[in-house]
Amino acid sequence: MTVPATLPAPLLPGATLGVMGGGQLGRMFVHAAQAMGYATAVLEADAASPAGQASQHQVLAAYTDAQGLAQLADLSTAITTEFENVPAQALQTLAAQRFVAPAAAAVAVCQDRAAEKAHFQSCGVPCAPYAVIESAEQLAAVADELLPGILKTARLGYDGKGQARVRNRDELAAAWAAMKQAPCVLEKLLPLHREISVVLARGIDGACVELPVQQNLHRDGILAVTQVPAPDVPEALQRQAVDCARSVAASLQYVGVLCVEFFVLADGRLVANEMAPRPHNSGHYSIDACDVSQFELQVRTMAGLPLVSPRLHSPSVMLNLLGDLWFDAQGHERDPAWAGVLALPGVHLHLYGKADPRRGRKMGHLTVTAASAAQARATALQAADVLGLPAF
Ligand code: ATP
Ligand code: MG
Repeated sequence: MTVPATLPAPLLPGATLGVMGGGQLGRMFVHAAQAMGYATAVLEADAASPAGQASQHQVLAAYTDAQGLAQLADLSTAITTEFENVPAQALQTLAAQRFVAPAAAAVAVCQDRAAEKAHFQSCGVPCAPYAVIESAEQLAAVADELLPGILKTARLGYDGKGQARVRNRDELAAAWAAMKQAPCVLEKLLPLHREISVVLARGIDGACVELPVQQNLHRDGILAVTQVPAPDVPEALQRQAVDCARSVAASLQYVGVLCVEFFVLADGRLVANEMAPRPHNSGHYSIDACDVSQFELQVRTMAGLPLVSPRLHSPSVMLNLLGDLWFDAQGHERDPAWAGVLALPGVHLHLYGKADPRRGRKMGHLTVTAASAAQARATALQAADVLGLPAF
């Protein structure tokens, strides 16, 4: 059976929507789908996953398990992914039976940093100077101007994992050896002034809407704080980022939610960093601060429903809650000061149902909404202080 790459008619509430992956992004997708009256099915190997806990249907299977994929396809009318590294082949298999958005080919580009950068360039979107390193010859041929740089594995990196900062050729060679000579890209280390991201949704008909631009602060390669509206980035640059993200999505014929991360350099130039074929951590604030969240947009794109432009109804600040918060200075496990933060006005707490806090693990986030950006920031700083997070 061949399934058209489009839907003959919108899938209405009552249908079952499937998702590959059981993490927090899947959990928030499930919440959004259920709120609109859809049922959900989650494919994930872990029986206690964040998304699985919330979903009507769970398929406990690995992403490559043929039986599991068949079961997900039986349960669902359309299927999406919450995990960037679902094997593209698995999405291809599902697409033979069901409408799958985003498509395997688009996800495959996002899974490989070399393909991703080549795609940015083909769209005329600037990215950091880089070299692909897959052989000793390519390693030796690296141009001096790429150092100091960041060596990143081409595949499977996240939250700063699979990356090494290298100052010179010796460190580069050592870092590549430590990565077991996996295919990598070496990126020039750029002087970052700010980081921003664009979360957009593109429908089957090519219609495109986006959230307001997010300004992001990372600590140790992990997103820590998102502020919207972006306080320190000129409007024109934000517009430019949106235009870049739109052209990246259009030339992939993308259907679904896509996030493109950008650097704003010290000299004011905009450079694309990477993209994710799904809702993004920097878009979580939209649940509480926008009239349409990134997860509702994900539901709408896969169901073939109209897309409406999200409106930010409250300035907001999002703080990520990592597993570190569950440990005191002596390293003993404790509960973070929830009562204290929930005493603050406009605090929305989201915990992902993960039983096992680990340092650096994303356990939840909180979004502060307020009547003004200054108030949102002031309350978020108070919340950070109560929890023991650094100021920003
Ligand atoms: P995630 O997928 O969780 O967003 P990741 O592991 O894929 O993260 P990147 O987005 O590539 O990692 O990098 C993480 C952070 O490291 C960036 O947000 C930025 O702060 C810093 N960084 C990455 N590349 C560069 C660069 N070329 N120059 C300067 N800083 C960089
Ligand atoms: Mg990133």
